Amino acid sequence: MPKKKAKASRRTSARKIQRVVLKISGEGFCRPGDFGIDGKSLRRIAEEVISVSKLGVQVAVVVGGGNFLRGAKIAQELSIQEATAHYMGMLATVINALALQDMLEELGQPVRVQSAIAIHSACESFIRRRCIRHLEKGRVVILAAGTGRPYVTTDTAAALVAVEIHADVLFKATNVDGVYTADPKKDPRAKFLHRLSYNQVIDDRLRVMDVSAVDLCQRHGVPITVFSLMKHGNMRNAVQGKPIGTRISE
Ligand code: UDP
Repeated sequence: MPKKKAKASRRTSARKIQRVVLKISGEGFCRPGDFGIDGKSLRRIAEEVISVSKLGVQVAVVVGGGNFLRGAKIAQELSIQEATAHYMGMLATVINALALQDMLEELGQPVRVQSAIAIHSACESFIRRRCIRHLEKGRVVILAAGTGRPYVTTDTAAALVAVEIHADVLFKATNVDGVYTADPKKDPRAKFLHRLSYNQVIDDRLRVMDVSAVDLCQRHGVPITVFSLMKHGNMRNAVQGKPIGTRISE
């Protein structure tokens, strides 16, 4: 879809969602506070993705890698160069992507993995037009290795790809139901926020996503919905326009 047309159509938010980017943090792949990949969590993610794909909605999934490591933290712990540590973080996302690929396939969903770092023997490299072609054919595309460059996160990668492939919305799946005024686990007075503007997120430094990711979405008119992937059916409900999580838009 040409960019201008895509932007104009996004503004009519009541229209049917056709293409989504789903960002899943690494923590979605493991049990709370745990490390690595948990089979049940993996299956739950795959089932949610399939429930949306079955509606005829095109789904590109950007996976994080925090269930294995995060670059900035590991650089300090191991006294290695930060750039190297970020590359290690990107490779961690590839592990999640390959696991999700096989679970989706096991459940009958056609899928491809495209990586921003070339790993020829394990998956395709990210090629924008090819990614869109897969989506049009009803395949789920899992995007691994973030942006392929260090010092940023997979949130930024998700925003970039949402803009690049003209997604109607960016879904940020977390393990809380949306955005609160404070951390609800630490502050019982924390209030849930149903709607936010991009500026509120940036100005109030709400820790929803990287500022660069929110800024990109704002500049290109991509709305963001933050919701919990822990509740079954949430993603399908969000696609169907039900009031799920926190909606961030202009
Ligand atoms: N990373 C990076 N460039 C990218 C995306 C990710 O260097 O474009 C590295 C970074 O070190 C990050 C790690 O990969 O900490 C894992 O990604 P992220 O923190 O976004 O995972 P999540 O928190 O979503 O699980």
